[in-house]
Amino acid sequence: MPKHHQMIILGSGPAGSTAAIYAARADLKPVVFEGIQPGGQLTITTEVENFPGYVDGIMGPELVDIFKRQAERFGAEYLTEEIIEADLSQRPFKLKSYTDDYTCDALIIATGASARWLGIPSEQKYMGHGVSACATCDGFFFKDKPIAVVGGGDSAMEEAVFLTKFASKVTIIHRRDELRASKIMQEKAKENPKIEFALSCVIDEVIGADDPPHVTAAKLKNVKDGSEFDLPVDGIFMGIGHIPNSKVFGGQLDMDNNGYIITRGKSTSTSVPGVFACGDVQDSVYRQAISAAGSGCMAAIDAERFLEG
Ligand code: NAP
Repeated sequence: MPKHHQMIILGSGPAGSTAAIYAARADLKPVVFEGIQPGGQLTITTEVENFPGYVDGIMGPELVDIFKRQAERFGAEYLTEEIIEADLSQRPFKLKSYTDDYTCDALIIATGASARWLGIPSEQKYMGHGVSACATCDGFFFKDKPIAVVGGGDSAMEEAVFLTKFASKVTIIHRRDELRASKIMQEKAKENPKIEFALSCVIDEVIGADDPPHVTAAKLKNVKDGSEFDLPVDGIFMGIGHIPNSKVFGGQLDMDNNGYIITRGKSTSTSVPGVFACGDVQDSVYRQAISAAGSGCMAAIDAERFLEG
């Protein structure tokens, strides 16, 4: 027999946990599936300085832990499980984890987004051996070594600045000659004496050696003049954006071309009544912890009204 819950929330980042706080306070006894990365992307970030209420900033993992404890205080239950199959064709909705079957009357999807990769074979080969998408997790391994960060957005600037704590030099590799990052983040990177820029450049290949596998350089191509050169680095960090974690619901919910779940109007309603989406899995524009938390609150209120109706 599947285990039935009135409300299931998938994902435990700011969106999922905020939904859990509101739903638990509405006595809906929400069960939160923590997913593949419990706490979400904030757990691999460093200091969060723009979440209201923390004058001096707070570390990402500490912030998600506070969200979780707050939700648990009102009775939300967290499961260290991941949903791998979903059937949203009828109510109650059916969900499957690696170990159990579940059903629920209302579902809140807050599965977030995951790091994007370049998709070249050599990147795959050296993943975990010098190629990383998590500066916080892996920066420490590159003490006094030259490294590269790929991307021109806020994530790339933030990672580059953070990595200067360890690295001897950080080169930001960006495919255009103009950065996408906000002015303040650009300034922070440009002012840092350890940071250099390789603009209008793309990585053609990650060059490395074996026994043990490690990265030695990035083969770069200048997209303007076609010239190629090797940039000697020990590590390459990807900061090129994210992909929404919506695959499980493919073909069942309306999504845009990039896989972001489409929500209706000002609500968190999806194309299936009773299924709500919040946070980065439905937001390709703002993608902030605070906007994710706000949409988590909306999803819980929308789901509560749906269940009452
Ligand atoms: P983003 O803004 O989408 O930037 C991704 C960057 O990667 C862009 O510069 C893009 O180049 C580049 N890129 C994408 N695919 C690529 C590929 N295949 N090869 C090479 N380069 C590629 O993503 P993000 O930096 O992760 O930021 C996401 C959101 O989070 C933004 O709203 C940002 O403001 C926010 N954020 C805020 C903070 C903060 O305030 N502290 C920190 C991190 C993130 P193009 O520019 O050419 O498209």
